[in-house]
Amino acid sequence: MADFIDLQSDTQTRPTAAMREAIAQAEVGDEQRGEDPSVNRLNARVAELLGKEAAVFLPSGCMCNNIAILVHCRPGDAIIADQSAHIVTTEAGAMAALAGVMPELIAGERGVFTAEQVSAAIRPKKRNFPRSRMVAIEQTANLAGGTVWPLATLVAVGEAAREKGLVVHMDGARLLNAVAASGVPASAYSAPCDSVWIDLSKGLGCPVGGVLAGSADFIEEAWLWKHRLGGAMRQAGILAAAGLYALDHHVERLAEDNENMRLFAEKLVGVPGIDVDLAMVESNIAFFDVSAMGLSAAAFSEKLVGRGVRIGAQEPDRLRALTHLDVTRAQVLQAADIVVGLAGELVAEL
Ligand SMILES: *Cc1c(COP(=O)(O)O)cnc(C)c1O
Repeated sequence: MADFIDLQSDTQTRPTAAMREAIAQAEVGDEQRGEDPSVNRLNARVAELLGKEAAVFLPSGCMCNNIAILVHCRPGDAIIADQSAHIVTTEAGAMAALAGVMPELIAGERGVFTAEQVSAAIRPKKRNFPRSRMVAIEQTANLAGGTVWPLATLVAVGEAAREKGLVVHMDGARLLNAVAASGVPASAYSAPCDSVWIDLSKGLGCPVGGVLAGSADFIEEAWLWKHRLGGAMRQAGILAAAGLYALDHHVERLAEDNENMRLFAEKLVGVPGIDVDLAMVESNIAFFDVSAMGLSAAAFSEKLVGRGVRIGAQEPDRLRALTHLDVTRAQVLQAADIVVGLAGELVAEL
């Protein structure tokens, strides 16, 4: 355990002793040649979980997004995405740099948009219009507060996209957190999507990796890009073993992360100086506003570090807290008490 309570991100999880044991025992081979049994098992397992024909293990979630975009789109195409989407805000402009693709942004409701908004954003076919090619969905919507896409909305968006010949891609970095929050199976969320991936290195607690799933043809094309981008590995079973272990042992417990975040946020409700909306806390992410105390989120965050809690300043006025495998319920509650205590002192000084 770190010597502070780290609610900065669920990427901060480190492999447990049991996961390290599974890694040590991993059967390995050359994954590029399809000869790594652990990678092959992981791919088959995720394909089944997501209800797709095939899947491919990749070094990161970002590469899952990049490769999906590269397979689906051609230069000059447009991707319809929420303005908060990770592919838009937090991937170093990869869609433009690598695929020559442009985003068409939708102002969704906390990261979730409607079929009507998609229909309005799809451009008619015209010689001088960019070709609308893909609709990108993020489950859960990370920078919008961990919002869970309702299944009916997702299905309707899928229909609106397909009707006009667009493909649907799901960034499922936290898809399994959505499953834990809603009880809807992962395969139901992924059914309206042509491609979908899950991250292993967030709440699942693995050191590295993501797994991208889709049709057999899509995954064959994805392999081409995996090689081109340098993501084809060798004895990657060392990493895949962690993924297999996580799918056995760390999926059910994501519900605890969601519950812990709710308990954290509940403690902040009604605290003078802090603004948090419980209705917006749907999974393992919560934003809270500290501007009423007359200091920036960054300054508040720094003061928290001094008291043994790390929560990042995601925006000028708002901090973003995440729960995960590496923080116990007791620690989450303790962190909330520290936030409340600090707010009490700051409000008293006002
Ligand atoms: C973390 C994250 C990614 C990128 O995943 P990495 O494994 O860190 O590359 C993509 N999308 C969302 C929504 C994320 O939260």
